[in-house]
Amino acid sequence: MRHIIIGGVAGGATAAARIRRIDEFAEIILFEKGKYISYANCGLPYYIGGVIEHRDNLFLQTPDSFGQRFHIDVRVENTVTVINTTEKTVTVRRTDGSEYTETYDKLLLSPGASPIIPPLEGIDSEGIFTLRDVADTDRIKNWINTRAVRKAVVVGGGFIGLEMAENMHHAGAEVSIVEMANQVMAPMDFSMAAHVQLHLLQKGVKLYLKQTVERFEQHGSVINVCLKSGQIIPADIVILSIGIRPETSLAKAAGITIGETGGIWVNEYLETSAKDVYAVGDAIEFPHPITGKPWLNYLANPANRQGRLVADNMVKGNTVKYEGAIGTAIAKVFDMAVASTGLPAKRLKQLDIPYQSSYTHSVSHAGYYPGSMPLSIKLTFDPETGKLYGAQCVGYEGVDKRIDQIALLIKSGGSVFDLIRLEHAYAPPFSSAKDPIAIAGYVAGNIVNRHMPVVHWREIQSSNPDEITILDVRTREETAGGQIIKGSLNIPLDELRDRLNEIPASKPVYIYCGVGLRGYLASRILIQRGFTRVKNLSGGYKTYSIATTFMTDPLFSHPF
Ligand code: FAD
Repeated sequence: MRHIIIGGVAGGATAAARIRRIDEFAEIILFEKGKYISYANCGLPYYIGGVIEHRDNLFLQTPDSFGQRFHIDVRVENTVTVINTTEKTVTVRRTDGSEYTETYDKLLLSPGASPIIPPLEGIDSEGIFTLRDVADTDRIKNWINTRAVRKAVVVGGGFIGLEMAENMHHAGAEVSIVEMANQVMAPMDFSMAAHVQLHLLQKGVKLYLKQTVERFEQHGSVINVCLKSGQIIPADIVILSIGIRPETSLAKAAGITIGETGGIWVNEYLETSAKDVYAVGDAIEFPHPITGKPWLNYLANPANRQGRLVADNMVKGNTVKYEGAIGTAIAKVFDMAVASTGLPAKRLKQLDIPYQSSYTHSVSHAGYYPGSMPLSIKLTFDPETGKLYGAQCVGYEGVDKRIDQIALLIKSGGSVFDLIRLEHAYAPPFSSAKDPIAIAGYVAGNIVNRHMPVVHWREIQSSNPDEITILDVRTREETAGGQIIKGSLNIPLDELRDRLNEIPASKPVYIYCGVGLRGYLASRILIQRGFTRVKNLSGGYKTYSIATTFMTDPLFSHPF
């Protein structure tokens, strides 16, 4: 059996090694157009920033070591240019331009994705880079090492854009981020992305939200990034990180079906529309386990898993089904960890899926043990059954384990009530007896059970203050530091039972406190004492104040 694999990094190298493990005698040829295989593309930003000091550390295998260990014919700097699915051949081009053909029994496409480069005036100016592979990395690193890079502009505030912002800052540059949307981190909801934005501002990064680049102008060694708003940001380096698209040109030319989102269509065995041709990784689309709709998921974990699974199907025939990925991702943004899984509220809204959400603000481990750090969770779930749809988590410690546990529950069809049932290891340095996940589950469960009706920050923002009573149950000292509506009714929780007569019974009462807990207690008091239209602000003043910081002025170029 002869297996040919196109693409030698995440999906391709994984599949090649697995094929060998299950078939010692198969012939395996791995084509990679670059010089390197199986390298740590997720580590590239950290090498550029100097956090990873040694370039060698990026390479998990060399073509020789990989080829030798797994007895694989690794051909780097060999680009597959044509696939013929009738003849079962591929045409390959060497760097000297010469071409040759190889036949296959089974073919795997793992060609990844390519960066989107918009056709803007000045886009070819020296000093503008995209980051996808080792060659890009070397170009950027060389640029930084051979001149004074004082100002860096990152265009695009996605996960990789933000990692690059941090690393350019680490390398000594003053960093600006230009983002077309009204928030960074597109897979997160506005209110959760706002935490990240505040952190970026605190670190001295300038944020240009809702701003579009119109053109670049080269003035000597300086590139002027000219925005449609008329603003000009001078830069010594520009990193373009506005997105990627699946690499489908080979497949398309071979007549292999491309799906509705632009990725290579595959069935549940990861086989394409052409028999014996399989595809994995960034290049494919696959139905989302919750929505059933195809989507593109550019992440390393699915690419690696698919690579392993597809190898079994290539060797043994179609035996193992892929269940799809819900998009579980995490990024380090300076001191903060930012993670998401499943569907955020904005996506549920787009899809017309009824949902409810909850915000909780906890700490990473027992508050009395030194070093505990804030940790915020937003859940999205079915309002009737509590079935979990998604979660977003921001904090400084323990964000990864929380998001991973929730992701596992979502993938197994779990609900907010399962969050309460999760058993977790606890000692004060690691968690609390009631873990932040359990707290999130209790709060969301109270919402589903109608035990605690909630109102969200956007509803408060858009409501008419004359038609509601906004009740602040924090202490007078806290209130002095800022209120949702200045001068709104303040009755500290511990005085509430004695001052019920101050609350008009004729209007809905929206209660808030610092993070939502005292508001919940207050809502229980009011509901049980006859107030019928009571809601607690989910996430309290913390969620409200952070989210609304970015509602009014989208241009955050000022130092924080
Ligand atoms: P790739 O790993 O990109 O491999 C595709 C390979 O195919 C490339 O080497 C390419 O040269 C080769 N190729 C393409 N066409 C041909 C051809 N015609 N002939 C021969 N070879 C060809 N994901 C995470 O989950 N977490 C992270 O922290 C993270 N960080 C990232 C940071 C950066 C800078 C980048 C670029 C990506 C990051 N990712 C991260 C995404 C992750 O790396 C990808 O999702 C994953 O590598 C996809 O695997 P793949 O096999 O589909 O493609």
